[in-house]
Amino acid sequence: MKKTVKDYIRTIADFPHEGIMFRDVTTLFADARGFRMAVDQLLHPFAGQRIDKVVGLEARGFILGGAVAHQLATGFVPIRKKGKLPGAVISQAYKLEYGEAVMEIHDDALQPGEKVLIVDDLLATGGTCEAAIKLCERLGAEVVGCAFVVDLPELGGHRLLEQMGMNVHVLCE
Ligand code: 5GP
Repeated sequence: MKKTVKDYIRTIADFPHEGIMFRDVTTLFADARGFRMAVDQLLHPFAGQRIDKVVGLEARGFILGGAVAHQLATGFVPIRKKGKLPGAVISQAYKLEYGEAVMEIHDDALQPGEKVLIVDDLLATGGTCEAAIKLCERLGAEVVGCAFVVDLPELGGHRLLEQMGMNVHVLCE
């Protein structure tokens, strides 16, 4: 039978902490057919729409987002964890299971009115993507979609993003 994107993803138990089942997409990225299929499927609903920039979330969103941007012939913009971007940034804090984290974007990376597609590997609680949406919107850009390879629906991120009015596209659960 033909393999699907999900078939290329493996699960590693107890990473990064005991009790966590980590969905490892490096096996998907390493396979030529799997990687191409994932990139093609991520961008499929957005092909033909106006997209000015693909925004990728550190770190696996860079791998997917770079390939999606190439296919859509758009620019690519990284959103990174605090302290990693060299130029002037704006910052957005978001909640983690324990404590808080901060994501940043260069303050000149998006122009007002630009249409943006956010890409990441996995959607869990949605906190990371929510922070990314806020950063894009604070720069005046419009987020036209959020695309993920994996959705963990029981963690509520999909619902959260839809409640924010987002167009959410996922390849598998
Ligand atoms: P959220 O903010 O939605 O709770 O978590 C999503 C972020 O955490 C994404 O940037 C994603 O890369 C990372 N993440 C959380 N759990 C996993 C996992 O099991 N596998 C992978 N590949 N990434 C994860």
